[in-house]
Order: sequence, then structure tokens, then C-alpha cells
Amino acid sequence: MAWETVIGLEIHVQLNTKSKIFSGASTEFGAEPNTQACAVDLGLPGVLPVVNAEVYPKAVAFGLGVGASISKISAFDRKNYFYPDLPKGYQITQMDKPIVLGGSVDIPLADGTLKQVNITRAHLEEDAGKSLHEEFQQSTGIDLNRAGTPLLEIVSEPDMRSAKEAVAYAKYIHQLVTYLGVSDGNMAEGSLRCDANVSIRPSGTTEMGTRTETKNVNSFRFLERAINFEVQRQQQVLESGGRIVQETRLFDPDRDETRPMRSKETAMDYRYFPEPDLLPVKIDEAFIAEVKNSMPELPREKAARFANQYQLTQADAQVLAADPDLANYFEDTVQHCHDAKTTGNWVRVELLARLNRDDIHITDLALSAEQFGILLSRISDKTISGKIAKDILDALWQGEAQSVDEYIEKNDLKQVSDSGSLAPLIEKIIADNPKQAEQYRQGKTKLLGFFVGQVMKETAGKANPQQVNELVRTKLS
Ligand code: ADP
Ligand code: MG
Repeated sequence: MAWETVIGLEIHVQLNTKSKIFSGASTEFGAEPNTQACAVDLGLPGVLPVVNAEVYPKAVAFGLGVGASISKISAFDRKNYFYPDLPKGYQITQMDKPIVLGGSVDIPLADGTLKQVNITRAHLEEDAGKSLHEEFQQSTGIDLNRAGTPLLEIVSEPDMRSAKEAVAYAKYIHQLVTYLGVSDGNMAEGSLRCDANVSIRPSGTTEMGTRTETKNVNSFRFLERAINFEVQRQQQVLESGGRIVQETRLFDPDRDETRPMRSKETAMDYRYFPEPDLLPVKIDEAFIAEVKNSMPELPREKAARFANQYQLTQADAQVLAADPDLANYFEDTVQHCHDAKTTGNWVRVELLARLNRDDIHITDLALSAEQFGILLSRISDKTISGKIAKDILDALWQGEAQSVDEYIEKNDLKQVSDSGSLAPLIEKIIADNPKQAEQYRQGKTKLLGFFVGQVMKETAGKANPQQVNELVRTKLS
């Protein structure tokens, strides 16, 4: 039986404020355990939380970044549960009135297309402390430094259909929050963690299968492995007549598997109720406008500008704008090759293919936008053919060439476009292939490609294809 995978992610992003969301304690990473937890974080009696105003512009910037609506009134709730790393016995979060509602992102996939993933909501909440198992025998240490750290939890719709898409989405969110400057995005330090909700269903059906939720995955590689493991496991269970239990699981990178952690709680189990110690917060248009003004150009705005300013297709513009670093590289290249259409196309097709193949991020690319731009302008000014340009790009890529112009000169790669030297060659090729020439004249015009191919071969790809086309046609008729 063929199965379809359905994935929705909940991503916890640590907002990069200096102090915690409800107290003045520092959020600095790496301090000695329990040196950065104050009375509020410890949940001591008689203290009250005060919201850190810094979390609002950051949450609003994210909301605007994904085209969501910003709630005019947002409010905090208590989510009650018992766990040693949660001193108050409840987490302050937003249940009924989250700050961000809706929105979507267009994520670039490896094949150069874009996929829309819808966002359900994003809400503010506090992080819990951390249980330390390794350093202790027969007991568990608790470090409350992280308790009260501000988080934005971003919940997606179940729109992803493979582990690869889920990773692309998580990477996109990571890039967006770091680009907006709302999080340091340091995954090794836990600044971005994913809960992967995974289910499968028979291909072609629309009803959702029962899902499991694999918690706290803190690297893209683990996310891919955890989802793939879970898909395999669910298939085995269903194909052997079993049923999936809705539960929370943990990914174990050492054994490359997920394991059940606890059966899924329902909202009822958490006894949510409005946080009585904090007032709802009103956000007005002026505040939203202020945040908007201080934001960098967003991928979707950039895409619109690219399409307009450079006359690119929507698809090219969106792919180029989706990664701000790629977008910068494109615009830097245009400074050196004024043919923006060619540049857009080459960045999207040739450059991206090589970056993906070698798993290099654009910011780590040794090839400068200047040399790349010069290469492309040599196509535009007809010094070289597109085919030769690809070869030169490979040479630049391997570090075998530094300067495009020197390389063209040294290897004698200039396009042959004077009819004086091409004409005798074409005549010779026609004379050598009388049968094909005869068939062409009798109407088999497809053979034009055969002759053009011969000329390109003879000139080692240096002939100007357009001109060869014309010359061959004239000579044959
Ligand atoms: P909860 O609040 O219990 O965690 P939600 O309905 O808010 O549940 O969903 C949490 C996440 O699970 C969302 O990202 C959602 O897209 C995803 N999700 C919900 N149902 C499924 C399903 N059947 N398969 C995969 N993902 C799902
Ligand atoms: Mg959840």
C-alpha cells in the first residue's frame, strides 16, 4: 500500500531579550546552574510576574514577517502540569488569545520550486528549567537558569508531506527569525527546537491519520531522521494490522529512533485558565506600524521588488528572494552583469544546483559576485556561448580559474562569430554529409539541428549558436 506522510511542526524560538519574560533575571547562556533564577523564576510565594516589554516588538515582527494578523488583544493563560523542572506547577503561555494568528511562508525546495506552508498561530510563553541526568547517579539535577526564558511557539498547519519539506520549513523559520533579529537561532544552545507531529494515511485519502509528536528536536539533521524513523514505524504498525497510539515521543540520536515518552495529554488535562497576575495586552496600529518601519525588507516584499525592478518571472523572483543571502548575491552580481534576467536565471538554475550538490551555503561560496557577474556579462556581450560559460563556471567552482577574462583568453574560448571563418567550415560539413543535406532539402527540416551540432562540435562549442543556425539554413537552401 502507498502511504502519504502528513507533518505539522511546533517550533519554539527563544527570543533574544537580555532578561526573562516575567522577571529581571539574565537569559545569558552557559552560566553556572541556578545562578540566573530569581524568586519569580523559582515560583516563590508572594512574587508577581511583570511582562518584559521587549517580547512584543519581536513577536509582532515575526507575525508581520509571515503575513499574519496581529491580535489587538492578547492574553496569558496558565497551563498546569507537574514536572520537577517547573517550580510554579504551571507554565505561563497563551492559549485563547495568542499574539499572532494565521500567516504563511513560501519555502524553497531542493528542486527550485516553492511550497506554501500555512501558520496556525504563534504565541508567547516561558520556557521551563532543565533536568540534568548525566552528571548524577540515581538522581536528577535541576537547573532553573532557563526557567522563564521567553519563547515564541510557532505552530504550523499539517501542510508538509515529507521529512525534507519539514526540514526546509524549519530552516526557513530559522532564517526568518535570525534575519529579523528576534532570535540568535543557536540550535546547539536550544534557541530553536522543533516538535514534529507526524501521521500517515493511505495515498489519495483526505482523512488525517492518528499522529505522534516527537518533542524537542534541536538539529535539522535529527529532525529529518526522527520524522523518517516515525514514518517507517507507523507504516510497520499499520501494515501489520496494529493502530497508532497518539502519544508524545522522544528522539534518541544515538540509536536513531524515537521512543514513547508519555501518552498524549488533552487540553483538559492541563486545566488552562487565564493568568490572573497579568493583564491582557492591547496592541494598536501605531505600535504595529513602528515595528514595521524598523524591519528589514522581507522575502515576500523583496520578491515583488525583484519581479518589478529586474523584470524577473514571479518564480525566479520568489526563489531568489526567499534566502536573503542569495538575494544579496544576486543583487551584487547584477552590479557586474547588467543583464538581470540572465543573472536571475543563472543564479536560480546553475548556481543553486551547484550549491545544493555540494551542500554549500551561499555565504560560504568562494566565487565572488564580481567574477560571476563578469562571466555572465561575457554571455550577454556574446564573447562566449552559454555552454562554454557553464564550463568556466565549473572551473571557477573548482578553483581552477580566478579571473574569467584571463581564463577565456588563455584557453582560447572566445565565441567564433565572424561568418568569414564559420562559412567554410559549414560548407565542408554539408559536403561531407550529402545524404542529410538532401533529406533536409526535401523537407526534413529537423536535420538543421544535426548540422548545427556538427558545427558546435568542430568549434568545441565556441561558435555562436544563433549565427550558426542562420548560416546553416542559408547554405542549405
Ligand atoms: P495540540 O495542541 O494538542 O498539540 P494541535 O491541534 O494544536 O494539537 O496541533 C499541534 C500540531 O500538530 C500542529 O502543528 C498541527 O499542524 C499538527 N497536527 C495536527 N494533527 C495532525 C495529524 N493528524 N498529522 C500530523 N500533524 C498534525
Ligand atoms: Mg502542542
